Amino acid sequence: MTEQDFWNGYKSLQRLDSEVHEAILAETEREKRSLVMIASENYASRAVIEAQANVMTNKYAEGYPGARYYGGCEFVDKAERLAIDRLKRLFGSEHANVQPHSGSQANMAVYLAFLEPGDSIMGMDLSHGGHLTHGSPVSFSGKIFKPVFYKLDPVTQQIDYDQVRTLAKKHRPKIIVAGASAYPRLIDFSVFADIAHENGAYLMADMAHIAGLVAVGLHPSPVGNADFITSTTHKTLRGPRGGFILSPEQYSGKLDKGVFPGTQGGPLMHIIAAKAVAFGEALGSEFKDYQKQVLVNAKVLADEILGYGFDLVSGGTDNHLILIDLTNKGITGLDAERLLGNAGIVANKNTIPFDKMGPKITSGLRLGTPALTTRGMKETEIKQIAALIRDTLEKPDSADALKRTRGVVADLCDSFPIYS
Ligand SMILES: *Cc1c(COP(=O)(O)O)cnc(C)c1O
Repeated sequence: MTEQDFWNGYKSLQRLDSEVHEAILAETEREKRSLVMIASENYASRAVIEAQANVMTNKYAEGYPGARYYGGCEFVDKAERLAIDRLKRLFGSEHANVQPHSGSQANMAVYLAFLEPGDSIMGMDLSHGGHLTHGSPVSFSGKIFKPVFYKLDPVTQQIDYDQVRTLAKKHRPKIIVAGASAYPRLIDFSVFADIAHENGAYLMADMAHIAGLVAVGLHPSPVGNADFITSTTHKTLRGPRGGFILSPEQYSGKLDKGVFPGTQGGPLMHIIAAKAVAFGEALGSEFKDYQKQVLVNAKVLADEILGYGFDLVSGGTDNHLILIDLTNKGITGLDAERLLGNAGIVANKNTIPFDKMGPKITSGLRLGTPALTTRGMKETEIKQIAALIRDTLEKPDSADALKRTRGVVADLCDSFPIYS
């Protein structure tokens, strides 16, 4: 089957709603024609995409497999059991809940299951790499709970575990969140667990970004350390858009109630079917090779970018992403994002620790390798792309450089199709 046949399969959609159909085709084309370096994005497999476009979207299945509030659940039960069993096996976890609609919903379910409104939560400062749901005032997490934030060490630009310990002692948060959206280094979940448990707090590991690496043992696992583990399914894990929660058996009852009926109604059974497919893929041997390459590519990207005289937050990377500090190049994150986007390289501006610009401008640029690696790109291509990034950011006014970059981007996209 050619790519064309696959994506033109939406015959009814094309006939009945050409506007949405056109938007989908245009997005397909955009994805095909650009180099995605957004660290939180990836390309789900055809099997995953097929699995989520199915009639299970029609089914109400409030409750859990074998204990639903609706009849006719025998087949969605089968899909959910497959997802749960595979996920437990993938991470070696005693309990798994695959119903959270997203990573944010997973976090909300944990908080509402184990905390009371007004309780304090402690997470990484958003501008230092944390996530909105770790206590930001614009998120439910900062509105319902009292947030305390730890920041990165100003010199190493890494987590300062002594500071985390001191803050935990002082503020006695009910839950400590270990996890980040823009942190290029390993997270030591066992130290976090010690700090939490010394201070009477739960530890929630939010591994949304690194779940794929954790699944294959390329990042230390929070399983065995954290009381609750939340994640998305669509970042390094390369599944459909969604979330899940893992925990030891002792918390399973409260957690499941926290998801349903605590924070959600009917689960998205078509998405759960696709999650099962993605977890099955992640259990396969090729997935580990993929994740290894993600790391190699990130290291090469870091080395090349450093070699071009850019600064990296923390000086490098241990995972799938780098965070460039653009200050010495005299360009903002916003401008960098725009320039690269114009050249066909999609990335996002990001605050750096102690950023002097606000979150709408920023001094940083976050770049990740999961999506490029899914396309099959390796060290050679990453080096080429690093050079394009340098040209684009250092010669913003050169029409020649732009033309050359666009040409190389087009060639790379042709040589490395997403869905072949
Ligand atoms: C992406 C992310 C989330 C939220 O995921 P959504 O599915 O977008 O709600 C939560 N926590 C962290 C650390 C993330 O990076």
